[in-house]
Amino acid sequence: MAAVESVFDSQHFILGPEVEAFEKETAAYCQVKHSIGCGSGSDALLLALMALGVEPGDEVITVAFTFFATASAITRLGARPVFIDISPDDFNINPELIERAITPRTKAIMPVHLFGQCAEMDAMREIAERHNLPVIEDAAQAIGAEYHERRAGAMSEIGCFSFFPSKNLGGAGEGGLMTTNDDKLAEKLRLLRVHGMQPKYYHQIVGVNSRLDALQAAVLRVKLKYLDQWSNARRRNAERYEKLFAEAGIEEVITPITRPNRRHIFNQYTIRCSRRDELMSFLKQQSVGSEVYYPVPLHLQECFKYLGYAMGDLPATEQAARECLSLPIYPELTEEMQQYVVEKIAEFYREAK
Ligand SMILES: *Cc1c(COP(=O)(O)O)cnc(C)c1O
Repeated sequence: MAAVESVFDSQHFILGPEVEAFEKETAAYCQVKHSIGCGSGSDALLLALMALGVEPGDEVITVAFTFFATASAITRLGARPVFIDISPDDFNINPELIERAITPRTKAIMPVHLFGQCAEMDAMREIAERHNLPVIEDAAQAIGAEYHERRAGAMSEIGCFSFFPSKNLGGAGEGGLMTTNDDKLAEKLRLLRVHGMQPKYYHQIVGVNSRLDALQAAVLRVKLKYLDQWSNARRRNAERYEKLFAEAGIEEVITPITRPNRRHIFNQYTIRCSRRDELMSFLKQQSVGSEVYYPVPLHLQECFKYLGYAMGDLPATEQAARECLSLPIYPELTEEMQQYVVEKIAEFYREAK
């Protein structure tokens, strides 16, 4: 509240010193040279694609098992998302399928670090470099996640983050961030978020209005200090679930894996299970919250019908959409609460038999 009050005292509500300080701190946290605040994670993706010159007719390779914004950023620029399937065990882009999706129109590759675990970046970078393609990380769910000791958002041309309240670093409203090690791209992103305006009322390019506001930055700066503590508590909770599920021996449930050399920050703890929708409503009756991320994969969304995909095109994605259920994982969750969650799931499958 003191940080919020100081913004009101300053009367400097958009960008300004609070945002600049937050950008410095997040650049250090994400181990990158530049960090640029913007209006939301969705805008971060849009601005990243604009900065890389994605235009109508271009193709961007990405996944369909993600939040809508990953693909809508591409289509809003008149470009085409080329959806490829995920690896069934970590829900991330299957690197073996990337190369065959590349065409002369491919302009970028956009992996998502889903649920807080980094995608397989080395294999992807190798392909991207061979084809001279930039990579944009959708790291909206993965701030502080690591891949071979490198941080999410630091392994590509541009990393995109969200401060939607449900993320590990959540604001008191909307907010987003872009990270890059490239000076020219950083300059372009800074220009794009203020209508391409430099100096005032002189427009060099057509951008958008997407700025981080000082109130968000002030709140996020306070919370950033606790981020590792909170993400570590989520990791501890994931370990406890792993142990509790192993003890309960529920055949119908597959717990999430963490690949070697990863720091998984567990924005979501997502199991696979049979009779998912019934389990979800049973849990609701037992006062256990759960959520389905994501029930309809993007290649089957109404608004993307024109892309011509059909059921069966992305089998691992479609299976995940049918079987995934995310359980409570927030930092303050107690061991007793987790025991209750696992007991109730065991009870559901016992009674279902
Ligand atoms: C949250 C999220 C976004 C969008 O972020 P907003 O800040 O809500 O616009 C984009 N991609 C993924 C994977 C997300 O989880």
